[in-house]
Parts: sequence; structure tokens; C-alpha cells
Amino acid sequence: MRVAIAATICFAAPVTSFAVDGANPEPLLAYGARIVGDDARTRIVIDFDREPAFSIHYIANPERIVIDLPATAFGFPAGDLGARGLFKDIRYGKMDEDSARIVLTTSKPAKMAVAKVQADEGGKGHRLVLDAEMTDKATVAELVKAQSWSDPASAQTTSAIPQTAPAGSDFIIAVDAGHGGIDTGAIGVDTKTQEKDVTLAFAKALADRLNREAGIKAFLTRTDDSFLSLSERVQISRQAHAGLFISLHADTLKQKDIRGSTVYTISDKASDKLAADLADRENLSDQIAGKETVAEPPEVADILLDLTRRETQAFSISLAQSVLTSFKDQVGTINNPHRHAGFRVLQAPDMPSILLELGFLSNKEDEKLLLDETWRQKIADLLTDAVKRYRTSMMANGG
Ligand SMILES: [Zn+2]
Repeated sequence: MRVAIAATICFAAPVTSFAVDGANPEPLLAYGARIVGDDARTRIVIDFDREPAFSIHYIANPERIVIDLPATAFGFPAGDLGARGLFKDIRYGKMDEDSARIVLTTSKPAKMAVAKVQADEGGKGHRLVLDAEMTDKATVAELVKAQSWSDPASAQTTSAIPQTAPAGSDFIIAVDAGHGGIDTGAIGVDTKTQEKDVTLAFAKALADRLNREAGIKAFLTRTDDSFLSLSERVQISRQAHAGLFISLHADTLKQKDIRGSTVYTISDKASDKLAADLADRENLSDQIAGKETVAEPPEVADILLDLTRRETQAFSISLAQSVLTSFKDQVGTINNPHRHAGFRVLQAPDMPSILLELGFLSNKEDEKLLLDETWRQKIADLLTDAVKRYRTSMMANGG
């Protein structure tokens, strides 16, 4: 279990009108970016159309420097801000309606020596200049410790108390589009399609299709290109009293010839290496977005909760099997298409949950299908059948 540690420095950036007076302000436009330097000193310059307010935080485990910005459209080519020098990984993107973020993962201890906004000579735009320099571990630890920052979006944790749905209501289903915002997920081999867009399109199609069924009410955990932490996805769904949670993904594998769908359920021990690797990568989502590492919920010795967990797991497995029954002879699947691993997004103790890998963006044939509207509708139909079959068998068993 890792404990979250974070820190902040707020640079005294002038409050600008877009930041405060609401009324759907236009996002800032970051229209250019450059990174230069080596692993002793690295400079990042980002051109904005207006003056950006920004703040900088240091996060441990692993060491990252986070730059928080108001809503920003990143309009420069992705290659212009690639990893270099002190930074081994650079991500940027939307967090929610009002904020964006840049996350710099450092390759060795580093701190910002300079962080300032300069007006362009012509007075048209503003550039954010970030000069990072190498330092020692103790200095970084001090920076992390010396300031207090709690990421508001990380405050939510999953309560261990089982919730019961209001009696006599619809069967509520949470449809979770994997990734989003700053976390793009996998990138397609051929078309460079981003997983977060594929999952959102599928999630919308599936929720629409489910909502055509009487007695079923489906909703989306995210409806646009925003970032949601893994625990937020779980929490949103539990608060809505979801009786099912379906997380949709389309990842990549090193083995480009592997294609087809896979259904995952949670377990402490992964069924195989592929499942373990995939869960590890999915669980990195919060880290990519510069989130603090939220401590795992404590091991609860509560025997009732343990029973709930077991029962939920049995329901999850039953749904996974129902999905594969629907897919049989209709949709290609990988070998042993029901696998299990420690996916954090499937951790709700009281909400049957599956993670569906629709296909792999690393495979050209799968990539084609994933972008095919007809195929998407077919999958939504088959999943709806699977949910209905699951529901019927549950009711037959007095569930
Ligand atoms: Zn994914």
C-alpha cells in the first residue's frame, strides 16, 4: 500500500477574466510547444493565445511534476512535446470542463528552477516557460513534503458499506468508457485512433441500446472527453445504485497478431500473464493523470462484506459467461476469452462488474472493426441480449 504524498507551489499568476466570470469561457489555446535541453537541464516552452493561470505540484511515487491549467485546447502536434532530458514521459490534456493538466514524469530527481509566463514581443500571445533542473532526492522529498496539496478529484474513495438499490426500481447499468481526457489509452497502429474515443463511441451506442429495453436504465460514467479516476468511476456508479458495471476498452498488445474480444472479471490472482500485464497497465490510469496514489481500501475482516464480495464475484462471472454466450459464432474472441486479474475499476464489493476488451487497437483487422459503426451496433445488440439473459437467470434464482 502506498501513501499519497503531494505538494504545491502556486505561482502568482494574475487572475484573468476567463478563470472567474464563468459563462462558458472559451478554453485557452496552446498552439505551440518546444522542448530542449538534456538530462541536467530541460526547458519546455508552450505558446498560449492568452495569459494562462497555472500552478505547479510535485508528486511522489513515482516522481512527477504536475502543471494545472484552466480549460485548455492543446493544438500543437503531439511530437512537439515528446519525452526528453529530465522527462521520460509527458502527458497533457483535459481533466474536466474547467481544467487541464500537464504531467511530467521525471527520469531523475528534478525541480522547476523557473516557471513563468512571458508576453510575446508582438503582445499577441503568452508563453509559459518551464525550466527544470536536476537536483537530489532529498530536495524533491522536501518539495513534496513542504507544501500541502490535495487534489480535489482524488478525495473520493470507495466506501466499504454495501448499498442496496431502491426497491421496485429499474435495473440500473453503469456503462464505463475506459480512459478519457489526459489519459488517451492505447493508440491504433494504422489510423492512430485513440482508445478513449473508441470506448466513448461504444459506451454511447451501448447505453442507447440498453435504454430501449423496458425496465433497464443505462447511464454513462463519462459523457465527454474528461478524465475520471478509477475510484471515481466506481463511486459514481455505486451512488447511482447500478446493479451492473460494464467497463469498455480496446487496448494494444505487443503481439500484433492477437485479435478478438476478451471479458475480464476481478480476482486477486491473475489468470495468466496477458491478463496481469493488462490490469497493470489499466491501473496506471490515475498515475498518468498525475493523481495521487489513493491508498487501497483496508482489508475488511467483516464476514458479511466478504460474503457480499463472493456473491458479487459470482454474479460478475455469470455476466461474463452470458456475454460470451452472446458472442459465440458472432464475434471473434481470443483464446480463453474469460480471464481475470486485479483491475482496480472492478473492485466494487457489491456491484457485479466486468471489463470488456472489445478488440485490440494493435491489430489492423480489429482496428477496422472498432471504427465500424455497423459492428458497434451489432456488439451493442449482443451485449443487450447478454444483460437480459443475465437478468432473467438472476430473477429465476431469486436475485
Ligand atoms: Zn484500456
